[in-house]
Amino acid sequence: MAAIIELENISKHYSPTIIGVDNVSLTVEDGEFVTLLGPSGCGKSTLLRMIGGFETPTAGSIRLADKDVTWDPPYKREVNMVFQDYALFPHMTVGENVGYGLKVKGLGRLEIETKVHDALKLVGLFDKVKLRPQQLSGGQRQRIALARAIVREPKVLLLDEPLSALDAKLREQMQIEMKHLHEKVGITFVMVTHDQTEALVMSDRVVVMEKGRIAQQGRPQELYDHPASPYVANFIGTTNFLPGRVIRCAGERAEIEIGGGRLSAIVDAPLVAGSTVTAGCRPEKVRLLAEGETAENVLEGRVAEVIYYGLGLRLAVELADGSRVYTDSLLPDRLALSAVPPLGQSLRLAVEPHNVFVFEGEVTP
Ligand code: ADP
Ligand code: MG
Repeated sequence: MAAIIELENISKHYSPTIIGVDNVSLTVEDGEFVTLLGPSGCGKSTLLRMIGGFETPTAGSIRLADKDVTWDPPYKREVNMVFQDYALFPHMTVGENVGYGLKVKGLGRLEIETKVHDALKLVGLFDKVKLRPQQLSGGQRQRIALARAIVREPKVLLLDEPLSALDAKLREQMQIEMKHLHEKVGITFVMVTHDQTEALVMSDRVVVMEKGRIAQQGRPQELYDHPASPYVANFIGTTNFLPGRVIRCAGERAEIEIGGGRLSAIVDAPLVAGSTVTAGCRPEKVRLLAEGETAENVLEGRVAEVIYYGLGLRLAVELADGSRVYTDSLLPDRLALSAVPPLGQSLRLAVEPHNVFVFEGEVTP
């Protein structure tokens, strides 16, 4: 695959103290669906707007389809942007809204009609061509905004929190629809969101941002299974963090002493014996042991809280030193629900060594 977007050491300093984006280098492949993910204020929109030409960088360069566009205005770039509020013209019909950009470009009426028809068909709204935006639902307006953006056949579509105005149910549905749309049109999508589930569901690759920088990037599963830092482990999914100390480390295996016991972990890089670390594990990777069952990493504690969330149960288990470990289990049947341990009951937990993350230093989540 060829690179379509190449960002080299891009920075945006709004003022000496307000740093929007801090020295980011990123390559996006042609046809990819890349998502910029991070909490509010981490620089996602600033980075997206610089790709679109709505903001100029204070340092670095931007290449689009092998052409340096760092100083080009938006209309000279083969990109199109979908804004959060859709920005549809209320006095125009759906068809006129979608065709507007083509009309400005000077295309003929027949050609515009054909392209508008195709774009509306792609988003499943051809029968709404004569309606006005206010006659449509939020989800339909969102699709019209998408149709209007793809009708001009940009090389890259930039989407800033495109689903944030929709309610939860509709948002889930649109996540899948947009993913399918991306597959159909073959245009490169770069999306911004602060919603980790949305990023995991929709993207080929997720770029996690932290204070204007890239914290980690990778395929959704890579990020989830191998977070490079506590920040990423905490932002994507839920993680139990347990302060600890390295007892020994041989090859890829490390023994960690934590307040409530000991853990073996599989690590990528050697750790220094005696050093301070933080062990992490996902609640769904922590399992309740049956009586008499043995396992490699056993933690003993008492049930401190039971949280029922429909699909399953989350137990907060307090270890001997007072730290808490969450364990998630799905509830396959009623029997399982009746077997929920009561508050205060002692129990044993286990987590496989390859499911234990080890981060150097202390973590203050
Ligand atoms: P995000 O989209 O991740 O929420 P933004 O890119 O909007 O983050 O903002 C990154 C940082 O830059 C924030 O500290 C924000 O306050 C600041 N910022 C964004 N836009 C401007 C602007 N036009 N002028 C000054 N500061 C800005
Ligand atoms: Mg933003």
